Formats: sequence, structure tokens, C-alpha cells
Amino acid sequence: MELTRTYQFRLYRADQNGHLIQQIDIAGIIYNHCIALHRRYYRLFGRHLHKYTLAKHITRLKKLPKHAFWNKVGSQAIQDVVERIDKGYALFFRNLKAKLRTSPPGFKKVKRYSSFTLKQAGWELLGAGAHWARIRIQGRNYKFVKSREIPPSVKTVTVKRDKLGNLWLYFVCQEDIQSKATMTGKMAGFDFGMKVFLTDDQGEETLSPLYLKQAQKDLRKANRSLARKRKGSGGWYKAKDQLNKVYQSVVNKRTDWFFKLAHNLTNQFDYLCFEDLNMKGMQAMWGRKISDLARSEFMNILGYLASLKNKTVYLVGRFFPSSKTCSCCGFVHKELALNDRQWSCAGCGVNHHRDINAAVNILREGSSSLGKMAVRLRSEPCSLEAAIAISPRIPCL
Ligand SMILES: [Zn+2]
Repeated sequence: MELTRTYQFRLYRADQNGHLIQQIDIAGIIYNHCIALHRRYYRLFGRHLHKYTLAKHITRLKKLPKHAFWNKVGSQAIQDVVERIDKGYALFFRNLKAKLRTSPPGFKKVKRYSSFTLKQAGWELLGAGAHWARIRIQGRNYKFVKSREIPPSVKTVTVKRDKLGNLWLYFVCQEDIQSKATMTGKMAGFDFGMKVFLTDDQGEETLSPLYLKQAQKDLRKANRSLARKRKGSGGWYKAKDQLNKVYQSVVNKRTDWFFKLAHNLTNQFDYLCFEDLNMKGMQAMWGRKISDLARSEFMNILGYLASLKNKTVYLVGRFFPSSKTCSCCGFVHKELALNDRQWSCAGCGVNHHRDINAAVNILREGSSSLGKMAVRLRSEPCSLEAAIAISPRIPCL
């Protein structure tokens, strides 16, 4: 099976890295410039700016003295910026069509802009030792930790910075992978809950790990220390790094946990039915958003592992009221409130546990409509980079 796979490597800290950070900043500046162009074009012509027109225009701009510094970034990276925005707009228009509330791609703070991507050209792998390797980008060499073998078929290289000032390389590769996962022939339905992370149709509960809660003490300490420092001073940056470190460790623990859970589920089941989170987002209510972010990160990881193991994740019908429908008789209990954990069906009198009932409904809906109503989570295998990159790095569990 042809699959896209992503390998992540950390760059050694070195003064050299400043050049890469500068290139990320410039990519961010170009990104904002492109967004401005898109908007102006729309105001003038009432039409979407096509990416080829934009790319041509950018090539012309690069020749102007005031934009000369853009040339410090590889032309492929600029191409990628143009494509990222184009994808953002495509998603925006698709959502508009589906009547989902979203906004078009917007401006980003340059310091928040985190990566640039090169395709086949613009980089070169140099010699490697047992635990290190070097890559050449824009005429400079950078050393990175060879934490695993470098795959032979690299399609794109992304240079990404994290909040702690580390730089990472992401190699996206097209590989022929023979899935080693065994098929179990089993299918299950799952419901996301408020306190319980997941409940399956058999009543099996997976509790949220509450990493953020465990880190509260460290967070308070780091926040207090930051508040005492003068903004912009050396100590302030140090304190900020410390705070970011605490957050990053929560995020890392959570991502680890997501991977373990997703491995576990994809080993057990061949078909996994979930409800469509987009729909949940539409019923947005206060206090809901953050947990939705964690859920969508988990779903991305699950989709990734499922595609590696040849398993299938189904998202069931967008307008299907999984919590409110009685899984025994189909009666719809319209008055069900968010905090009702238990309820009795007015149709058949059966007592329901809210989440288990929902999971049973999701499973039933999924199995009855495989390929019909249910949308396959990923028609094409997704990459880990995509899985991790789109998820906001906000710790919330
Ligand atoms: Zn009933």
C-alpha cells in the first residue's frame, strides 16, 4: 500500500540556525503579503486570486529592490506559501458551501509563523555519522540528530520551529508499506464525553488523563515568575521559556497518550465509528471549544494510524442525533439536556446511560450506512505532519 509517512528530526542548536529562523520569518512576511494581495484582488475584481497568477506576481515582486530579501528563502518555499493559502481558501469555500461557519485565511504574526516547506529542490542531504546527519539548505549546512534511519524517498522537507526555540525537520515520504496489523473483523462505535474522554458501545470508558490539571502547580509557579519580570528583559524571556516548557510537556504527554489510545483501538477494531466533530462544532456552546480541539487532534492521529494499518474510521451522519435517540426503539428524546447523564426512554421505558446509548447509536448508524451516509475520515492516507500540524498546540487535557 502506497502511504505518505513523515519522519521528524531535531536540529542541533547552533548559531547557524539563525539563518533558518530568518527564512521562516521571511516566509511569514511573504505569507502576509500574499493574504493582502488576495484581499485586494477580491475587492477590485470580486473574484478569487488564482494561485498561478499570484505565483507569477510574487516572482516579479522578488526582483524589486525592496523585496530583495525574499530571495533568502528558496523559491520552492515561496511556492509552498502560495499553495498553503490556496488550500486555505479552497477549504473556506468548501465550508461556505456546506454552510459551516469559518473564516478565510487571515494574517499571522510573523513570530507565530512556524515553518517553510521545500519540495525536491532547494535542499540536499550530506554525509551522516552514526547519530547525526547534515542537510544543506540555501547554501548552508545544518546538523541534525539522526534518531532513526533517513528514508530514501523524501518528497518534501519542512523546517519548523517550536516555542522553545528548537528547530525540526519533517521529511515527508511516499512509501510502500505492508501493514502488519492483523484484521479482527470487529467494529465499534465511540462517543466523546465531557468528563470521560471516550465511551464505546460496550460501555468501556476511557478517562481523560488530565495532564493540564496535574501541571497546574508548575504552571502557576511559571506564571508568577513571569509576572514578576520586566517585559522584554533577559529574565522575562527565560521565564517565558520556562512557561512554554511546562505547556510543551503537557502537549507532549497528551500527544503520546493519544497515540497509545489510537494504537490500542486500531489494533482491536477494523471499523471504528465516530460522530462528525464538525457538526459538534456547529452546535458550539460555551466551554466546549477547547475539548473539541483535543478531540480533533485525537481524530487526526487515529486517522493516520488507521490508514497505516488498513483500518477504517467512519464519521457518521452529520445530522444524526446520537445522544437523543433511544438505541432500543428509536424514540427521539428532544428535551435531553447536556448534563443529563442518565435518562429513561418515554417510548419503551429503557434506562439509558447517555454516552453508551450514543456510542451504540453511532455504531448502528455507521454499520448500516457504510459507504452511504457515513463519510470516510480520510479518503487518502494522511501524513503525520498534517495530523500534528493542523492541531492547535493548546494543552487541554
Ligand atoms: Zn426507547
